[in-house]
Amino acid sequence: MNAQRDYADLVQRGLSLDLTRGKPSPRQLDLSNDMLRLPASYRAADGTDGRNYGNLQGLAELRELFAPLLQVPAAQLVVGGNASLAMMHDTVVHALLSTVPGAVRRWVEEPEITFLCPVPGYDRHFTICERLGIRMVPVPMGADGPDMDVVERLVAADASVKGIWCVPKYSNPSGIVYSDETVRRLAAMETAAPDFRIFWDNAYAVHHLTDTPAELADLLALCAEHGHADRAFVYGSTSKVTLAGSGVAFFGSSPDNVAWFLANTGKQSIGPDKLNQLRHVEFLRDAEGVAAHMRRHAELIWPKFELVDRVLAKELGGLATWTSPRGGYFISLEVPHAGEVVAKAKAAGIALTPAGATHPYGTDPADSTIRIAPTYPDLEELEQAIAGLAVCVRLVAEERG
Ligand code: PMP
Repeated sequence: MNAQRDYADLVQRGLSLDLTRGKPSPRQLDLSNDMLRLPASYRAADGTDGRNYGNLQGLAELRELFAPLLQVPAAQLVVGGNASLAMMHDTVVHALLSTVPGAVRRWVEEPEITFLCPVPGYDRHFTICERLGIRMVPVPMGADGPDMDVVERLVAADASVKGIWCVPKYSNPSGIVYSDETVRRLAAMETAAPDFRIFWDNAYAVHHLTDTPAELADLLALCAEHGHADRAFVYGSTSKVTLAGSGVAFFGSSPDNVAWFLANTGKQSIGPDKLNQLRHVEFLRDAEGVAAHMRRHAELIWPKFELVDRVLAKELGGLATWTSPRGGYFISLEVPHAGEVVAKAKAAGIALTPAGATHPYGTDPADSTIRIAPTYPDLEELEQAIAGLAVCVRLVAEERG
């Protein structure tokens, strides 16, 4: 096959396709259209008026519903606004400005704050660190999660290491799931910093694509068991369950951390949007309701994951490797000269997340990871985009010999 000729044909077609961000497709959003007519009642289960100010921690019935899904006791769960990312950002800001339980001083008073960043990882985590002046140290990811030998060594050696970003289930972008042993070691490890925190972004907790859902060990319980009760900050949201712009976000942690968090957020807000919380309770009802809803998402997006796998196998066997996730929103493609491949794709009208975005400071030292977000385009567009991407990989391989 002649990659140059194929690439010329590709450019000729004048495509305009976008695989950049993990957005639900319009058909996925349609699954939640009934929410637009809810809530039917503005009364919470305890009789309070959801239209008014108040209830900083969020509705008990919604916390009960998501407690088992996020592996956080309902009493230790907080429901926030529509973005878990905002809760992550704000937690770091709170830790900078208000002493976290177990800390000697506020993080802003430390000479340096370092976060470990398993790579490839989620670019928006790294952006939070960049914005807040937190040094990032990459840690390689394996099939079971971050390389725990490296993590244990770094947290034990350096008291400036205060945090680690983790997407433990169907990770962004590789789709891998942390093994029980990885979770246990994260909970048990000795850290030089007494106020070390695991930022456990369980964004894809219920986002299974197959009939065999991945199981994740219970980090919060394991931390408590190993004498590190305050170590875990857990996050999640319904952005990719219900409506990406109008979901509900969660923060869960130890009782002391939750009290600290609420003391801080209480200065930002008089209370969250409880009508949206009621709408979620009425629409999703219970854990089985969530599972049934997620199966409808899977019916729409599993064929897209299968398609990507099939096209890559047909076009690129031997030239590249990629992940075949069983949940979540992303596939990670490993190729030589990823930056050049992304540039060639862009010139052919196929927009991809910039190469390097999966690494701190936007720099992938191996220049090898491309994140594929297959959910938004329809199957026909997706096939064109992945076939086109494969042409770009072959072209770069040919040019580079
Ligand atoms: N965390 C991860 C790992 C994500 O992939 C995303 C969405 N791309 C988010 C958080 C954002 O979540 P939210 O909409 O709740 O801010």
